[in-house]
Parts: sequence; structure tokens; C-alpha cells
Amino acid sequence: MASQSEVIDRLRATFRSGVTFPEPFRMTQLQNLLSLVEENEQLIQDALHKDLHKPKFESVLSEIQITLNDLYFAMENLRTWMQPEYNIGKNLATRMDDCFIRREPLGVVLIIGAWNYPLHLILLPLVAAIAAGNCAILKPSEICQATEQLLAELIPKYLSQDCYAVLCGGAEDTKSLLKNKFDHIFYTGSQVVARSILLAAAPHLTPVTLELGGKSPCFIYGHIDIHKAAKRLCWSKFFNTGQSCVAPDYVLCTTQTRDALLPALRETLRTFYGPDPGASLDMGRIVTPRHWRRLMDMLEKSKGKVVIGGESREEDRYIAPTVLVDVQESDALMQEEIFGPILPILTIESLEEGIDYINRQEKPLALYVFSDETSVVTTVLNNTSSGGFCGNDGIVHMALPGLPFGGVGASGMGSYHGRWGFETFSHRRGCMNRSWLLERVNVLRYPPYSDYNLAT
Ligand code: NAD
Repeated sequence: MASQSEVIDRLRATFRSGVTFPEPFRMTQLQNLLSLVEENEQLIQDALHKDLHKPKFESVLSEIQITLNDLYFAMENLRTWMQPEYNIGKNLATRMDDCFIRREPLGVVLIIGAWNYPLHLILLPLVAAIAAGNCAILKPSEICQATEQLLAELIPKYLSQDCYAVLCGGAEDTKSLLKNKFDHIFYTGSQVVARSILLAAAPHLTPVTLELGGKSPCFIYGHIDIHKAAKRLCWSKFFNTGQSCVAPDYVLCTTQTRDALLPALRETLRTFYGPDPGASLDMGRIVTPRHWRRLMDMLEKSKGKVVIGGESREEDRYIAPTVLVDVQESDALMQEEIFGPILPILTIESLEEGIDYINRQEKPLALYVFSDETSVVTTVLNNTSSGGFCGNDGIVHMALPGLPFGGVGASGMGSYHGRWGFETFSHRRGCMNRSWLLERVNVLRYPPYSDYNLAT
């Protein structure tokens, strides 16, 4: 088996040959990636079920379809994205010149994925890297072994082996991989590991995109159809068993709203998952015993009161959709991203208090505001900062390829999806081809400068 550096050298030689630059090559590889996903849908679903107990519907929607949509979008727009940009404001001195911006591939890029959407977190950045004309090393999460192995098997079958490679392994393998020089590192995962990614990138001055997480609030305020709100909240929170980077992490609302919300949440969860969510085929599992233990520790340390759910089973890493009230800012559940099916409700007394609370925390990856009153949604939007924003629903904003997806502050840097991914993996080269005309203007800048009196 080739070593990490041999694989990187092979890809670098390919990149230097220029083979990935022409549009037809990029298009063929995107088409091949499309075939990979379409022809192996069942294998993908099986792997995701093995790794995460993902319900078929969730696999199709959040792993397969989201990848296909991004692929269609990239293939439809590739030619336009690749065009040099000529619409540049010129001045008197440059009006005869040819000024344009070229989007050029960066080189050999490294894509490191996390386990919670183990397929799409590798394939969506890959779509962007291919579209932008790069070679790419893919490092899927070792935690979802079945999906990792499937990617390692399928990628070389469908895509050019000289341009794209999967390297498997855990933290130690990734650390050794990071000693090599890349032209860009695209990392999805935790804030803790992100710091070591930045440190590893520093000696090579490698640019980095960090797709991280954080505590994304769901602020419910003012008049609202509570049953509709409960459905949208439960779906976005408990989708993928709460293991979504953009899942609503906690709810902020007044005690009055909380009292109306609780019965609506109970009813919704019963409709979604039946009387025993543990027996529902639509409820996934926590990814590993270690992740299950972490969530149970948070739950056990919390001073909040469990009012819905709370049941758990270690043997199959099950935790019921769980809601807690009387949670304080200092509570264990409010100290770090939950990343599981546990939903604390924090009460506030006013819109301002809720906004203050959000602004005291690190900037979240997503912010959700549920309200019938547009002014409430706009006020929260105008007075806070977050990676993305969605009024009156959760998660869905990330599925639209026209919107940039990424964090801000502690929730990440850089963005992707659709054109934004293409831009991330491209260098915008500002170019100017000067005309030989207008030398009478140019002459003004040549020495001896003493001929000009600049003071006047
Ligand atoms: P993880 O454990 O799968 O780690 C992510 C990747 O980092 C893996 O490929 C892993 O091999 C590698 N890794 C782990 N330790 C490392 C180390 N010490 N040095 C180098 N590489 C290392 O996933 P995770 O970190 O548990 O992911 C969960 C986090 O990711 C959550 O915070 C979640 O919010 C965030 N996330 C963000 C997005 C997003 O798009 N913004 C998407 C999914 C998950």
C-alpha cells in the first residue's frame, strides 16, 4: 500500500500536469461522482444504518439527496463559475487595459470529515474541490467505519485515482497526514481538534476552512402557532438523533410560551415516534458508547428537570427524545454543544433578555427564531451574529445550495455549498494585461519625480 506521502506526491504530480484544469475533465469527474452516489444508494444506506442506525428517509434526505442536489447545481453552473470575471471598475489610467479575475484551482487539498453525516461531509466539499479543478485527499471519520470503508472502496472505482484518494485512519494517522504540505485544508469537526488543525497548517501557511459546531439557540417569542412550532422544532432537533451540527441546541422562551410548548412537544413526539421512541424505526442511535456516556453524564449532572423522555439504554446506545426545564445558564447542559437528543429549555422574560443571552455566548453555527411577528424575527436577526439563520424552522437553510454554509467566530471560518464551495477551493487571481497605448498618461509616473509638484 502506498504511504501518505507517496499518495500526496502522486496527486501533486497530476495537478502540475494541468489535467484537472479543463472544464470537460471536471465535468466528467462530477458525472462519475453522480454515478457513484446513484448506483450505490443501497450500499450507502446500509453503511449509514450500520454506523448510526440512520432511518432510510434521513439517509436519503440528508446524505444522498443533499449530495445529488449539490452535484446537479455544480454541473449546471460550472461553465459560468469558471468564466473569467470582466466586470471590474476601471479608472482613467486603466481604461485601455484588459482587467479580469480568474478562478484558479489551489492544488492538492485535504478534506477531513466528521462522523455525524459521514457521507455528505466528505462528498459535498469534494464536489466543490473537483468543480474548482483541484486534486483532493479525503479523510473520512474513522468513527463511522462502514461508511469510511465504503468511500475507500467506491472513490477509486469511480474517480480518477491520480487526482483523488481516500486515506483512512484515526487521530494519529490524521496528525501524521497533517505534517505534509497541502494547498488547502477543509476540516469539519469539533472546536478542540480545529485548534490542532490550525497549528498543523501554520508551518506551511496553508489556508484553512473550519466547519465547526456550537450551541445553536432556538428562540421562540411572541405570538405563534405552538403546534406548528413544536413539529418544526422536534423535527430539526431530533433528526439524526440530535447529532447535527445545526440542530437547535436549546430553546429560549418565556415561561408562558414554555407552558404552552411542553404539551405540544409531548404530542408531537408521540405522533413522530409512537409511545416508545426506542421501538421506532425512525429514531437513530448515539454513534458510540463513548458518545452515549458523554450525553448521559451531561444529563445526570444537569440540575434541570426532565419533563419529557429521559429513558436510555446502554446496550444499544439509545436515548429517548428528552426535554428539560428549569435549566440555568450554569447548568452542565449549557456548557458545551449537546449533540444528542436532549433539549433544555431556558426561560427569559423579554426579547432583550433573550438577545443578551445569545450575545453572551460564542457565536453559534445557526440561530433559529420562531415567531408569527416578523418584527421579532428581524429584531433578533439584526442584533445577533451566527453562521447561518433561519426564521420559523430549523436545519433547512443548510440544504439550499444558493446559501453559503459555514460558521463565524468559534463556530468556524469559511463556507461552502454551491458556488461558495467553488470559491473556497479557488484562488481569485486578479489579472491585468496592459495596453501599449496611452503612454502619455504613463509618462507621468516615471522619474525624475522632481519634475512634478505633488504638493499642489
Ligand atoms: P470526529 O471525531 O469524527 O473528528 C473529525 C475528524 O477529525 C475525523 O476525521 C477525525 O479522524 C479527525 N481527528 C480527530 N482527532 C484528531 C486530532 N487530534 N488531530 C487531527 N485530526 C483529528 O468528529 P467530531 O470532532 O466529534 O465532530 C463533531 C463536531 O463537529 C461537533 O462539534 C459538530 O457540531 C461539528 N460538525 C460541524 C459541521 C459543520 O458543517 N459545521 C458538520 C458536522 C459536525
